[in-house]
Amino acid sequence: LLLAYDPARRLARVQVSLEKSLVNARMIYEILDTPPRQQDAPGAPALRVDKGEVRFENIRFGYVGDLPVLHGVSFTAEAGKTTAIVGASGAGKSTLIALLERFYDLDGGRITVDGQDISTITKQSLRSSIAYVSQQPYLFEGTIRDNIRYGRETATDGEIEEAAKLANAHEFIERQSQGYDTEVGENGVTLSGGQRQRIAIARALVRDAPILLLDEATSALDNESEARVQEALDKAMVGRTTIVIAHRLSTVVNADKIVVMEEGQVAEEGTHGTLLADERGLYARFHRLQSARGLGLVDDRKAAQPA
Ligand code: ADP
Ligand code: MG
Repeated sequence: LLLAYDPARRLARVQVSLEKSLVNARMIYEILDTPPRQQDAPGAPALRVDKGEVRFENIRFGYVGDLPVLHGVSFTAEAGKTTAIVGASGAGKSTLIALLERFYDLDGGRITVDGQDISTITKQSLRSSIAYVSQQPYLFEGTIRDNIRYGRETATDGEIEEAAKLANAHEFIERQSQGYDTEVGENGVTLSGGQRQRIAIARALVRDAPILLLDEATSALDNESEARVQEALDKAMVGRTTIVIAHRLSTVVNADKIVVMEEGQVAEEGTHGTLLADERGLYARFHRLQSARGLGLVDDRKAAQPA
């Protein structure tokens, strides 16, 4: 699958983890998608990250020919702050994240990091500035230690352990028969969803990237596990520009900025307080519906169309 996905990157080091975790989610499409696109321009410079501000400027994009998915999306994810993206399933949230990682070329507009158009810098420098934690993190054949080290090849055992501690993973790792050397994957130990997530968070932490992308897990985790994962994520977000596809109400409420997506456009933008104040707004309707159900801000089509 990786080979089909992007041959040129196959043997590259750190960004493999990113590509694999996305490949996992997109594999069906990627198998059909043969030639690698978005090559670096000759002599393209590396990204220079200063504060880590991310701007989406009038983004237009479609996966196939005349079927646009994003129709002019603009917003800024401020440096060091948390921007939550909410909206119904299919609104284009994950697509925005894929575009920021340059998995596809834009049809219009541009994305900048600290003012540099990401299409003009090297993909490698872009991706090494980004850590991504998906809803269903991918673990590779190998040991737990290998799986965390995928975040950054040069990480020492000490750094790996430190990241695991921050990610609330150290304790359960130590309880495994071989500790950090326990094999995972098809022939290894079976880990719970929450444990896999915490390994993925440790991987992101060890990467120490200025930009953190999160696709929040929904209901897959039990309460205890969810609390431990949330705690780990909260720590990972400190001081990083975080863009989170948010499902949990707590994430949304605490975000510095909320971007409400609807059918490939930004419907609203603000904080929980300012958005809630607009009673007729989409966000306020979302919120009423979710409060009534006593759930988090789940993205499903029903949630987008309250009765
Ligand atoms: P969200 O994350 O908000 O649920 P997505 O960004 O995943 O939405 O999807 C937006 C739209 O793009 C949907 O209509 C979806 O079917 C389509 N889409 C997503 N990924 C692909 C892909 N790899 N190829 C073709 N269409 C896609
Ligand atoms: Mg999505």
